[in-house]
Amino acid sequence: MTDVTGTSNPSTSGTDPITPGTSPGPPAAPPAHRGLRADAAHQAAVARLRSAYAAIPPGQPVRLAKRTSNLFRFRDGRPPAGLDVSAFGHVLDVDPASRTAVVGGMTTYEDLADATLRHGLMPLVVPELKTITLGGAVTGLGVESTSLRNGLPHESVTEMEILTGDGRVVTAAEGNEHAALYRGFPNSYGTLGYAVSLTIELEPAAPFVHLRHFRFDHPDACMEAVAQIARDGSLSGHRADFVDGTAFGLDEMYLTVGAFSDVGPWLSDYTRERIYYQSIRGPKEDFLTIRDYLWRWDTDWFWCSRAFGVQNPVIRRAWPRRYRRSDTYRRLVALDRRYRLSAALDARRGRAPREFVTQDVEIPVERGAEFLRFFADRVGMSPVWMCPLRLRSTRAWPLYPMRPGQVYVNFGFWGTAPLPPDGADGHYNRQIEEQVTALGGHKGLYSTSYYSKEEFAERYNGAAYAKLKREYDPDGRLAGLYEKCVTLASSPP
Ligand SMILES: Cc1cc2nc3c(=O)[nH]c(=O)nc-3n(C[C@H](O)[C@H](O)[C@H](O)COP(=O)(O)OP(=O)(O)OC[C@H]3O[C@@H](n4cnc5c(N)ncnc54)[C@H](O)[C@@H]3O)c2cc1C
Repeated sequence: MTDVTGTSNPSTSGTDPITPGTSPGPPAAPPAHRGLRADAAHQAAVARLRSAYAAIPPGQPVRLAKRTSNLFRFRDGRPPAGLDVSAFGHVLDVDPASRTAVVGGMTTYEDLADATLRHGLMPLVVPELKTITLGGAVTGLGVESTSLRNGLPHESVTEMEILTGDGRVVTAAEGNEHAALYRGFPNSYGTLGYAVSLTIELEPAAPFVHLRHFRFDHPDACMEAVAQIARDGSLSGHRADFVDGTAFGLDEMYLTVGAFSDVGPWLSDYTRERIYYQSIRGPKEDFLTIRDYLWRWDTDWFWCSRAFGVQNPVIRRAWPRRYRRSDTYRRLVALDRRYRLSAALDARRGRAPREFVTQDVEIPVERGAEFLRFFADRVGMSPVWMCPLRLRSTRAWPLYPMRPGQVYVNFGFWGTAPLPPDGADGHYNRQIEEQVTALGGHKGLYSTSYYSKEEFAERYNGAAYAKLKREYDPDGRLAGLYEKCVTLASSPP
């Protein structure tokens, strides 16, 4: 580890100061910058978007023309013409007084975090892949290590400006005439409309994060520790501003508890030779700058960079640092899926075909150990990411009806598993869906799904969705949620 005490603290390095802070709270004052959306350039961009949308002939599929995506549903064939949303990819304003920001809907969290950290502030939840956008995280959900304290990313969004499926531009907020859209937008995946700007709350961020890795040799003990952190806000006296975990096996699981820190006695750097997920098994204590902490998983796309050899020291040194990023690896996977390269290679070598098992699921903490045992027994992929969460809201969000007050653990697993001789695609994913339902959990929809229409409607509140669809996209110009997430897995994003 490099001892760089005093050199990388933004308050002493000539960049804008980061205000030390350890007790994030609600905004200091109400949002004061609604008027920003009246900004001439923003208004002109919205008007252009409306015209572009109106010019698309009815019946033609619509997609967002974005440079990046974190969806794990890959389209076949030629993509349809898309809507140019590049004007909505930046932060409009950060207001330190009210601790809020107004943000273009297609702004990446990388840009958003940079803009807010300059003021010693950060979004309440920062998903760990740099190119996830604020609009994408709200409509497609997200989770990160502050989610036990702060819930999901959409729960700190106070207002959204949305181009609806029927071509209007409306402002949706709690308590206004579009409150139903505000609450139904999370988990609608761009099927009701597109968020062009959002107002979000921010919290104070200290310059460093002090991490401790706690090892457990049994899933029950690990899940009990999660429940205890949820009750007490700390583990073995270490404050839990951040909590996530990594399961390498049922007898080797870690919870990583992070506390905001005003000091960094030494600092690790996992953007070079060393690899973050491997460090979890090493020394029990670590320090990172807040920025390096936020992107600790991005450099190696959690552990998925190993599929490209980037964890081999020789290849790693040759692989340019600027390409050690999740969006680079995701592009490579998209190419592989498109041209079926690894499938062809497997077939040539006489290996069994593999199924993509890339999912995030939320399971009540009391049933988390059962899920881990099921997963180890039936699927067997490792590591598995574990991220505890609890809704911030006291009311459920209609299209992803998690129970308020309940502690869940998000389990994330991203890769492939070899199919048994009699197994067809869906062999693993269907079992996972059934188990998630049996354990009272939920499954995110950014990847493949196999639910029947009836089960999907039951799991994701089909009645509430149908009402919103009638209200905001009566002619069905945008795909329906079931079609987009299940039957048209090859549909445009
Ligand atoms: C391997 C993997 C791991 C992941 N891990 C995590 C994780 O740990 N934590 C986490 O938080 N998330 C995770 N995700 C999920 C990710 O947050 C969601 O897929 C999210 O929707 C991606 O946002 P994006 O901005 O990249 O949107 P895109 O991938 O471009 O689009 C996602 C969907 O959202 C719609 N959409 C995008 N922008 C808007 C907008 N402004 N308004 C309305 N609709 C819009 C698109 O039409 C599309 O249907 C993971 C995804 C993958 C593939």
